[in-house]
Amino acid sequence: MKIDILTLFPEMFMGPFDNSIIKRAREKGMLEIHLTNIRDFAFDKHKIVDDYPFGGGSGMVMKPDPVFTAVEHVKKNDKEKLSRVILLCPQGRVFKQETAKRLSGEAHLILICGHYEGIDERVREMIVDEEISIGDFVLTGGEIPAMVMVDAISRLIPGVLGDEDSYVNDSFYNGILEHPQYTRPREYKGIQVPEVLLSGNHEKIRQWRRKKSLQRTMQRRPDLLKREDLSPEDSKLLEQTEED
Ligand code: SAM
Repeated sequence: MKIDILTLFPEMFMGPFDNSIIKRAREKGMLEIHLTNIRDFAFDKHKIVDDYPFGGGSGMVMKPDPVFTAVEHVKKNDKEKLSRVILLCPQGRVFKQETAKRLSGEAHLILICGHYEGIDERVREMIVDEEISIGDFVLTGGEIPAMVMVDAISRLIPGVLGDEDSYVNDSFYNGILEHPQYTRPREYKGIQVPEVLLSGNHEKIRQWRRKKSLQRTMQRRPDLLKREDLSPEDSKLLEQTEED
């Protein structure tokens, strides 16, 4: 997958993509990340990228032309029209695990990071395929949301984590939260690892984990549990949980 990130602050990205899993995915050629400075596409003498809002008000608005030209530039080799242009925006649809799953199947993403009061509305109208927010709060720019998206999407690209099992049981992947995890030592500060996890009985472990997942989801995120969609086994485990 190729990801182009259009930003006024490319230096902000130094670090997050140069470590750990994302670094390895880039080195193996599974993921290409390119940073483009929108200011390089401001062609006036002072390379101005923002201006006062028409109608008055505080703050500055990013001008349409540099963003438009930067998008055209990164799209120039896209003869098959495979690029998907995404604007990071607090007014967009909220980014979820299912969004990450869907976007991990795309060939080329172009992420536009806004700054200041945001970007001229005509960019949104003319070249954006989708607007995405990372939550109901406002950040200073789209750079951190872009990092969040790239990280969540990249780990779902086949081969990046090596073992698919490591994300299929993750919270949200199948609609519910993950079960508790333990590692050595067996006892820590008086708390024992649940006996079943040491039993070697794979079926019992699977059932225990499923039950704990359902229990956690019911306690912490009941909004995620749609009872009508539960399998007969899940309904039974949930009943046991409620009795417990
Ligand atoms: N005035 C805009 C509004 O009220 O909708 C907010 C602009 S914000 C200060 C500047 C930029 O940060 C936005 O253009 C967007 O790219 C990014 N941004 C801020 N919060 C975001 C969020 N929750 N999700 C995605 N992008 C966000």
